[in-house]
Amino acid sequence: MAIASAEVLVTSPGRNFVTLRLTTEDGVTGLGDATLNGRELAAASYLRDHVAPLLTGRDEARIEDTWQYLYRGAYWRRGPVTMAAIAAVDMALWDIKAKTAGMPLYQLLGGRSRRGCLAYGHASGSSIDTLFASIREHLEAGYQAIRVQTGVPGLGQVYGVATDQKPGERYDYEPARRQALPAQESWDTRAYLRHVPTVFEAVRAEFGPEIPLLHDGHHRMTPNEAATLGKSLEPYDLFWLEDCTPAENQEALRRVRAQTTTPLAIGEVFNSVFDYQTLITEQLIDYVRSAVTHAGGITALRKLLDFAAIYQIKSGFHGPTDISPVGQAAHLHLGVALHNFGIQEYMKHSADTLEVFRTSYTFTDGLLDPGETPGLGVEYDDDAAGSFAYEPAYLPVNRRLDGTVHDW
Ligand SMILES: [Mg+2]
Repeated sequence: MAIASAEVLVTSPGRNFVTLRLTTEDGVTGLGDATLNGRELAAASYLRDHVAPLLTGRDEARIEDTWQYLYRGAYWRRGPVTMAAIAAVDMALWDIKAKTAGMPLYQLLGGRSRRGCLAYGHASGSSIDTLFASIREHLEAGYQAIRVQTGVPGLGQVYGVATDQKPGERYDYEPARRQALPAQESWDTRAYLRHVPTVFEAVRAEFGPEIPLLHDGHHRMTPNEAATLGKSLEPYDLFWLEDCTPAENQEALRRVRAQTTTPLAIGEVFNSVFDYQTLITEQLIDYVRSAVTHAGGITALRKLLDFAAIYQIKSGFHGPTDISPVGQAAHLHLGVALHNFGIQEYMKHSADTLEVFRTSYTFTDGLLDPGETPGLGVEYDDDAAGSFAYEPAYLPVNRRLDGTVHDW
């Protein structure tokens, strides 16, 4: 058999998604996610103009060889656009292989290591009252682990805090706005560092010591600031503190690690195992945050997690709504199979998104499960997709109070 066609599908059911669909000469289809939030058309062009012409006629069974062919063959290695494109090809090939075998993908990855994947949801509020309401809503929905983000006194809209929430409406948080220019947010690290510990003190006092709580610093702190926050959160027993520094400089995590026992998670913006080399070999982190979509696909993520396992580091795959249901399904097949699974981020996709991407994964009693459908278990509905045209959307830009651009 061989790959007969490679189609790049762009749709926007509430947000933009880029999907690759490969079809073999025998008519077996495979799906891959190449969504790069805010830069979607760059990944679509890379796939359509530079990768699709290389795929027709290739043996769809040769997943490792195709990965190396696209990675080494491009000469220009790594980077989010290249790695999202390779990821999409890789996912689609694994989808085809598992469908051809008549098995859910996790069976080809070694079979089940657990009943399901512990998921965490995003609770947020601009105030303590609205945060508590959001946490209660998540607990009622069955979540057994919760990320906590709040507004900071003196600042307006900040990362991770939902706005315009009405009771019963979709609870999650979509920062990419459909407008001509990026939204601007404001930031004050000192105010943030003063406020966050008081929030976790209040949450523990209200909801008790049992529930795993997470927090995302979104790359905004220096190593010293991150160490200060990690120490101040130790009494509240966090599951993890995420993205405490920008981490392009992996050595920055040495200082944080030396100063606090709060567990650390990092890597959603990384593209390759090399971005983690120091972090993993020196055990400077506890969880790998990469998404299958942005780190080269199932083949690359599995190798990364096998490397991490040697150092007792676990998975915490990036799972916001800009990871399409195809990418999220891949996370769940990896998640039930990997021994060193840690936790899975889970923001439920909108009803419109789930009309385009028909999923077979489930969320029950706080656990996500990929289901037993052969392949990844996701079907793409062309008719539904056709009614949602692409609209440009940008992630926000963040400025300190004096106007200096800061990390968003
Ligand atoms: Mg994050």
